[in-house]
This record gives sequence, structure tokens and C-alpha cells, in this order.
Amino acid sequence: MDFEFTAEQNEFRKQIARFVAERVTPQAERYDQSGEFPREILEELGELGYLGIKYPEQYGGVGLDQPHLYHTIFCEELARGSLGIAAGIAMHTSTATYGVNKWGTEELKQKYLVPALQGKMIAAFGLTEPNAGSDAAAIRTRAQRDGDHYVLNGTKIFTTNGTVADFITIAARTTPGKGFKGISLFLLDTKTPGFSVGRKLEKFTIHCSDTAELVLDNVRIPSEYLLGEEDMGLINIAQSLVDDRVMTAGLAIGVAKAAYAGALKYAQEREQFGKTISTFQAVRFRLVDMLARLKTAELYSYYAAWKADRGEKIIQEAAMAKLVASEAANYICRQALSIFGGYGLMMEYPAQRFLRDSFFPLVGGGTSDIMKVVISKEMGI
Ligand SMILES: Cc1cc2nc3c(=O)[nH]c(=O)nc-3n(C[C@H](O)[C@H](O)[C@H](O)COP(=O)(O)OP(=O)(O)OC[C@H]3O[C@@H](n4cnc5c(N)ncnc54)[C@H](O)[C@@H]3O)c2cc1C
Repeated sequence: MDFEFTAEQNEFRKQIARFVAERVTPQAERYDQSGEFPREILEELGELGYLGIKYPEQYGGVGLDQPHLYHTIFCEELARGSLGIAAGIAMHTSTATYGVNKWGTEELKQKYLVPALQGKMIAAFGLTEPNAGSDAAAIRTRAQRDGDHYVLNGTKIFTTNGTVADFITIAARTTPGKGFKGISLFLLDTKTPGFSVGRKLEKFTIHCSDTAELVLDNVRIPSEYLLGEEDMGLINIAQSLVDDRVMTAGLAIGVAKAAYAGALKYAQEREQFGKTISTFQAVRFRLVDMLARLKTAELYSYYAAWKADRGEKIIQEAAMAKLVASEAANYICRQALSIFGGYGLMMEYPAQRFLRDSFFPLVGGGTSDIMKVVISKEMGI
């Protein structure tokens, strides 16, 4: 067993951390207040070559030997600066572009994947619908074949990057009555007539991650834009959805680290009763509990990513990493807020943003309950 990152991985982390310290952290509050997703940060990351961590070099990717581990580090470092910004970028670098890389024709890859990895296009992933969240197989958006096109009608909700996306990997039902087997994936260019943004959704959490309701009204998609086999979309995308749980664990660890570091520093500076508050056992124990949960979440998430990089099936490990890391992050951010006392409740301190943002990993990519459903199935109970 080897618990060390390689020199290259440590260097990679340092580079991302430097970028985040210069370009993300100083602007995090401003973007949280404006609620805008900073496209220029995605563009800069594209220029620097960071958007293709999971993809082959021929399309502008990095071609790494351990893409999952690198991607986890990438998500974690971005989320230390801003979980809102990180969530939009991580969606772009994973599930939103996974389908076009895996099943897209060469023409589609050149037209969409290459510019996406350069940061010139933004991608989204549309599965969830108003009546189908945890039960993704219940989606109602229809795709009906019409000659050499599919015609899509329906509504998507909670789509990250939804109002800013240039293209969307979108799921629609091609065969009614077949449950999770009758769903297909398509690449939808958002310039296609009939596609519109219903509304941008206002959120309590990750303000600057763009979240939208999307409307599809007789949207005609050429049949070459079908990603993978017809009716196999949900089954095909399953691997990416599993990987994404490791990504979400990375996002959770990032915000938890930021909250923990801020609280530790504050506890060692803030004086009450003539002493720094870190000398009070109640505060010290709180910091110990935070660190213990953080380290456990980190180790297990790296383990899941490491296993994925070995080509192993990680259904249980990915669900467990997300469950443990997102619950830990929420706990850590809650404790951090209390260490800041009244200042924790003030908008000028980031503790409240960390806590608000830490609710997202509990839901995005599947709720904690659903992680438990997945784990219990894997346990055979
Ligand atoms: C900020 C944000 C961004 C998102 N981005 C995207 C995106 O880009 N693309 C996309 O497709 N989706 C996205 N989602 C959707 C997300 O994946 C769903 O919100 C999530 O899967 C839960 O679905 P739901 O909201 O419909 O809740 P529901 O499924 O209605 O769940 C409601 C409650 O019931 C519980 N529950 C449901 N079923 C079970 C069960 N079988 N056993 C036990 N408990 C159960 C849940 O745990 C939860 O507590 C996003 C969501 C958010 C909040």
C-alpha cells in the first residue's frame, strides 16, 4: 500500500492551488453575490490545458495515467476557492463532455469536444426533470424519430450551466414503457430552434453555479447527434455518473478544507476571557472532530479515485466516498460557522458561504439517501 501522491501529482496540486489563489478566491464573494458563472475562469483553465484532465491528447486532453485522481485533486483545489465556480467547471470537465468523447462521431468531437476542452464552449448535462430526480428512469422528455432526425419535447430542471451552455448532453425517452432501458442520450446544440431556457433558478447554495430549467419544444436533432446506442443512454452514462460521485466527493473536500482552515486560524487569533478561543476544550474538540472527518473523507475519496484509475468497478466505493465526504463537509462547515460566533453569521465572512455551499454535494449527483440505496444494493441487502 502506498499512501503518497507522486511528485507530479503534488506539483499539479500546487499549480492549481496557485491559480485558485490568484484567480478564484479573490473573486469568490463577488461572484457569490452576483450569482453569475465566471465564463472567463473556465476559458483561462482551458487555455492552461486543465479542462481535459480526463480526456485523450488528440482532442486537447492531457492523456494522464491516473485521470480520476488528478481530477479529484483539481475539483478539490477549485472548491477551496469557490464551490460554486468549481461545480460548473467540474460538470463541464466530466459528465457533460463524457458522452461526446465516448460515443460522438469524429465530426462531433472536432466540433464540440475540442473547443470545450479549450474553454471556448461550455457543456451541460440534462437528465433531471421536474418529476424525475432520484428516479431518473421516470423521465418524460420524448425523442421521436422522424426520418434522419429525432424530435425532442419536454422539460429539464436543475441543469448546471443551463443558461450558459453551448451544448448539452441530454437524456430523452426513445421507447416508452421500457423504464431505464428506453432512454437515449443526445448532443443538443443550444442554438437549435425550439430550445429555450425556461428560467434561471435562484438558489440558497452555490450561487454562482448556473442552474436552469430548460424547455424543449419540437427540437429537431440530427440522428448523428445520438450518443451511443438508441435506448441504452442511461445504462451507458452510468459509469460517468459513478465517476461523478468521486468528483462530488472532491468538491465537498475542497469546501470542507477551506472552512476548516479558516476556523483553525480564527480560533488561534480570537481572544475571549483573556485567552485565544482555541485553548478552550470545547473549541479544540470541535476542531479535532472536523479534522478527523476531513482526513477520513480525503483518504476514502482518494482510494475510490485510485481504484477507478485501475479500471476497477467502483459503484460502492464512489457512493461511499460521496456519502462520507458530503456529510463530513456539511458537518465541518457547520462547526466552522459556530467557531466564528456572531461573525460567522455576517456576510463579510466566508463561513456562511461555505456552509450554504456545503449543502450542494449532499444532493448533486444523487442524495445521501440514494447513496445508501446504492451501497445497500452492492452489499446485497
Ligand atoms: C444545485 C443543483 C445542481 C444540479 N445539477 C444537475 C445537472 O447538471 N444535471 C442533472 O441532470 N441534474 C442536476 N441536479 C439534480 C440532482 O441530481 C437531483 O436534485 C437529485 O438527484 C435529487 O432529485 P430531486 O431533487 O428530484 O429529489 P427527489 O428525488 O424528489 O428526492 C426527495 C427526497 O426523497 C428522498 N428519496 C427519493 N427517493 C428515495 C429512495 N428510493 N429511498 C430513500 N429516499 C429517497 C431523497 O433522498 C430526498 O430526501 C442538480 C441539483 C441541484 C440542487
